[in-house]
Amino acid sequence: MQPLDQILLILDIDETLLYAADRPLARKPDCRIGPYAVYLRPFLTDFLNQVSQHFRIAVWSSSSHDYVESVVNTIFPKWVIPEFIWSRERCITRFDPEWHEQYYIKDLKKVRRQGYNLERVLIVDDTPQKVERNYGNAIYVTPWFGDQNDNELQLLTKYLLQLRDKANLRCIEKRNWKNRGY
Ligand SMILES: [Mg+2]
Repeated sequence: MQPLDQILLILDIDETLLYAADRPLARKPDCRIGPYAVYLRPFLTDFLNQVSQHFRIAVWSSSSHDYVESVVNTIFPKWVIPEFIWSRERCITRFDPEWHEQYYIKDLKKVRRQGYNLERVLIVDDTPQKVERNYGNAIYVTPWFGDQNDNELQLLTKYLLQLRDKANLRCIEKRNWKNRGY
């Protein structure tokens, strides 16, 4: 049997890994990036250290290019080197007629074009709408706005490690992952 490709794990940034606030919360931020007071989600460094040992890591955010680059340079441990760092420019824009506003979609077709097998790709995001074209690859996390008791990234590490040897990740029901396991 062929060994499986290492999974490509694509991470969102805002409200998934951190909270970048216009106005600081009642406590001191962990760092500042541009005009933002940045708070890191609990267990973030542990999470990045652990998953980077078992997965190929990439970053895809619908924020601006400069912001995304600064975030990766600031919060990623030096030895965690993403395969790619994508920002808004790689997203597709759609119009939501109900809310009368634009929104961004991360279409994994663009990832497939880079040569990745989508059966071995996972995308972690707090906004289901942004991955609506590829829900089979998505793991949704609860949006995070600074709660210090949150342990989502700890749970996510455990869950992801269970998926490593699954051949086709798109066939695995991942909704409700926190209760289900796989
Ligand atoms: Mg987000």
